[in-house]
Amino acid sequence: MNYTCKPKVIVVGAGVSGLTTGIYLLDNGFDVEIYEKHYIPGGECTGWYRKGQYIDGCAHWIVGTEPTSELYPLWEHIGAFDGNPEIFPTEYLTKFQLKDGRFFTFYSDLDKLENEFLTFFPEDKRAIKRFLNTVKVYRFTHIPVKKPLDLMNWFQYLAYGISLLPMALPFAHYKHVALEKYIRHFKNEELRGIFLRFLDPGYNIHSFFYVCQTFSKGDAGVVEGDVIDFIAYDITFYQPNGDEAPAPAVLRPWRIPSRGVLPSPPQYAGPLPWCYSPSSTSAFTSPDSLCATSGRCHGRN
Ligand SMILES: Cc1cc2nc3c(=O)[nH]c(=O)nc-3n(C[C@H](O)[C@H](O)[C@H](O)COP(=O)(O)OP(=O)(O)OC[C@H]3O[C@@H](n4cnc5c(N)ncnc54)[C@H](O)[C@@H]3O)c2cc1C
Repeated sequence: MNYTCKPKVIVVGAGVSGLTTGIYLLDNGFDVEIYEKHYIPGGECTGWYRKGQYIDGCAHWIVGTEPTSELYPLWEHIGAFDGNPEIFPTEYLTKFQLKDGRFFTFYSDLDKLENEFLTFFPEDKRAIKRFLNTVKVYRFTHIPVKKPLDLMNWFQYLAYGISLLPMALPFAHYKHVALEKYIRHFKNEELRGIFLRFLDPGYNIHSFFYVCQTFSKGDAGVVEGDVIDFIAYDITFYQPNGDEAPAPAVLRPWRIPSRGVLPSPPQYAGPLPWCYSPSSTSAFTSPDSLCATSGRCHGRN
């Protein structure tokens, strides 16, 4: 039996956060056990099979795909960009078929998007311009990945605050504005419907500004493949033997099949400890499934 003097950290939850935390802990010389109450890892980032059909339950795109983005090294480190499946920039977020049969394309590029908006909904020109201007200002948003806010000293905190100054006014203005309230700026019902297809009506409109700005600057990508692939880390399954301290009685490599049948729930009760090695992973979903949940869509062109 191998004894180790490494300090051990217990992580509760094998969602993307828990798995990523585990990888960084392992990198930094800790032993890690991840306890997950579900019978598969992934948390919200999941998919399942029903009557032979794969249902993608979660993320359609990820932020931080631009190599200069602060998030990029993190994704790269955990293997999200290993090319299987591929994450790619997208020319548009979704296409919608309108009542008259025409297709409206929600372009990533803001100039193209403006053109499209004005072609279809000219009566909402003012509100559309305001929307696009706000998205442009939100481009100043950046997530402090290298150092979280609570670890910053006052200078760093101040510098971060200053970097966000250009968006201070719209941020304050829309702080409590839900999507359903925001869309009242638009006269056209179908245009309102397009916005409502993206997010829940109660969502804060910030989220949507944020999404649009990431796509507009090429810092978000959709993924060709099933979301379940994203959590297909190489995981070593570690079964407790019933003792107080779990021993590596059954240690076997375990990997979620990327397009096969998900494993059956284990036969024993209680939280399952997961030990795994940081290795390959892959990521999110295709534009088609983005369309499937966000609006009507027929192909990518
Ligand atoms: C429908 C949907 C679409 C989404 N689309 C996108 C998208 O397009 N882009 C994007 O970036 N994000 C998207 N998200 C959000 C993203 O999926 C989540 O933010 C992310 O997966 C959260 O990961 P997490 O690890 O922080 O939390 P979770 O995924 O919630 O993981 C927490 C884990 O902890 C486990 N757990 C909780 N309590 C215990 C306990 N007491 N003991 C043991 N285990 C426990 C849970 O079972 C779970 O597995 C979407 C989410 C949903 C639901």
